[in-house]
Amino acid sequence: MIELDGAAGEGGGQILRSALALSMITGQPFRIWHIRANRAKPGLMRQHLVAVQAAAQVSNAIVTGAELDSSELCFTPGHISGGDYHFAIGSAGSCALVLQTIVLALLYAQQPSTIRITGGTHNSMAPPVQFLRRTYLPLLARMGAQVDIELLRYGFYPAGGGEVIATVRPCERLEPLVLMERGRPVAGYAEAFVAGVPLGVGLRELGCIGGALEWDGSQLHMHRLPAEQGPGNAVLVTLEHEHVTAVFAGFGAKTIRAETVAQEVIEQAQQYRESNAAVDEHLADQLLLPMALAGSGRFTAATVSSHALTNAELVARFLPVVINFGQEEGRNTCVVKSPCQGG
Ligand code: ATP
Repeated sequence: MIELDGAAGEGGGQILRSALALSMITGQPFRIWHIRANRAKPGLMRQHLVAVQAAAQVSNAIVTGAELDSSELCFTPGHISGGDYHFAIGSAGSCALVLQTIVLALLYAQQPSTIRITGGTHNSMAPPVQFLRRTYLPLLARMGAQVDIELLRYGFYPAGGGEVIATVRPCERLEPLVLMERGRPVAGYAEAFVAGVPLGVGLRELGCIGGALEWDGSQLHMHRLPAEQGPGNAVLVTLEHEHVTAVFAGFGAKTIRAETVAQEVIEQAQQYRESNAAVDEHLADQLLLPMALAGSGRFTAATVSSHALTNAELVARFLPVVINFGQEEGRNTCVVKSPCQGG
């Protein structure tokens, strides 16, 4: 039984999700305590509980402690079964983060899977669906994994009600990925989404982004969603390069000005542009699991976040890999390798 302190490093929900994924795949049971100890409301919230339930269903696991607010649980996985799944988060908790928990495990099933999840699709502190589609999944595809995600309905905080459907084809083994250069720029564009929120909010966001990133109208897209999918507002900046795409997100809230939401996204995009690295901050922590499962990989990263450092430590508890962060020609690097590999 692997013993995990949920307060270690970042001390949030990601430790739990990564542990569930790796436990299912490696067949090693684990016990975690101090779940989300570094968050204002520690313990299992709806999204984390649904992630545990989803992992348990997918891997025929025996679980104790899977209750709302629980700060400790034991998870003993069985065999991974593909098939049709439906999970309802019942709040604006992130559909993407529930998917993040089970998608890699379902690659190791015998049968293909379809997973329908209802909850939040565009919430702060979680990958928006477009991020997964444009950034993460194309890289998984390069590693040999065929995963698709379709956004059926938007869901914003606090109402939720969004819906996504993902399909996962079994994949015998993931191939290593090397991503040191982003390559030449291919496209850049911004999108503002409003649902039950005045159009002017999105237009102001796009105006700020267009000005700061020196983009013209053809690169600024306004999407008015059906009011009943709101109230909600999100703004995305997408930078496509030859080898990788980055998606930066900002989320409107009642007390936050549109200009402030836009500024946050502008800063993320500018910081990525200036870093000259291939991988953005969020993609960096999310790539560690598939790379470790592939047995090796390397990339340059705009930022090495505490999420990435925590994930790296966790991965090494389940898999025989070493993950090293360093610097090369002024850029952050991450190298994943098995202990017997040189270099
Ligand atoms: P909590 O920490 O409250 O439990 P959580 O369950 O959302 O929250 P975190 O540990 O903070 O978990 O992990 C959030 C995950 O979402 C990380 O993998 C992070 O990379 C990803 N993420 C957060 N914001 C974005 C974003 N804007 N784009 C892409 N990925 C994001």
